[in-house]
Amino acid sequence: MQNTILDQQNELLSGLSKSLISGSLSDRNILAQTDEHPTISILPDAFVLKIGGQSFIDRGRSAVFPLIEEIGDNLDTHKMIIGTGGGTRARHGYSVGLDLGLPTGVLSVLGTFVSMQNARMIHYLLAKHGIPFIEPIQFPQLPLYLAERGAAVFFGMPPYTFWHENPAIGRIPPHRTDTGAYLVSEVFGTKDMIFIKDEAGLYTADPKKDRNAKFIPKISVAELKELDLQDVVVERPVLDMMANAKNRRSIRVINGLVRGNLTKALNGEEVGTLIYAD
Ligand code: ADP
Ligand code: MG
Repeated sequence: MQNTILDQQNELLSGLSKSLISGSLSDRNILAQTDEHPTISILPDAFVLKIGGQSFIDRGRSAVFPLIEEIGDNLDTHKMIIGTGGGTRARHGYSVGLDLGLPTGVLSVLGTFVSMQNARMIHYLLAKHGIPFIEPIQFPQLPLYLAERGAAVFFGMPPYTFWHENPAIGRIPPHRTDTGAYLVSEVFGTKDMIFIKDEAGLYTADPKKDRNAKFIPKISVAELKELDLQDVVVERPVLDMMANAKNRRSIRVINGLVRGNLTKALNGEEVGTLIYAD
């Protein structure tokens, strides 16, 4: 009986639907067919901003207040989905957790709550503009908040918690707040992904440790891999994910300590470092 219904349904389905429903989702040939239509851009006018934890929010008022003002100045012209990093408190949490023998999935829970602390602080500073703080469960309301208020604040950590995969080396959750913010930008097909940190962008080495580090204004992911740098300015999974991205195939890293940089980036001007996949 069930078979006949399936047979009848199959007759009504197009080629792709048929292979997806009756074929194996591990079959490479079937998977290749699923890329026929481009993905839609759900929020093409919005930007995702990620405000660094250690690099930015941990610096306190001298860094944060001018940025909050600059975000406020741009509310009439740009829609912003604002994610936050964890920073020093997250690193401390990881170190205590590691000492206590806790697994990656639990460290991920700890990091999530620290990035939430930072999101709460940023949100209260922006509250006078009517900007909400949203948790992952509230993302369906994001389009409304953007239409009404022009921005929303979220915590950057992807909400994998216990389901976080283990890293290849060590035990720190590999997908943290840069990755979480990036993925929001990718899935919603936003206009751009801007990382707000405390350096002009990507250098050939960490400029805090190497005075001869050279600034790189623009680089492809392939070129960056080729350079094989000891350390980079964004989480490495972001670079890996860009290669398979449908929408977000470039990111920009700016120094948010310099007043006006965010506005330039929002206006599409060349500022900071552009890292692109193509
Ligand atoms: P966040 O607070 O946003 O998570 P991080 O502190 O994790 O930011 O990363 C940004 C920092 O990365 C910069 O402050 C810089 O000191 C460091 N860094 C390491 N390698 C590089 C590099 N190659 N180019 C630029 N910055 C680098
Ligand atoms: Mg970081």
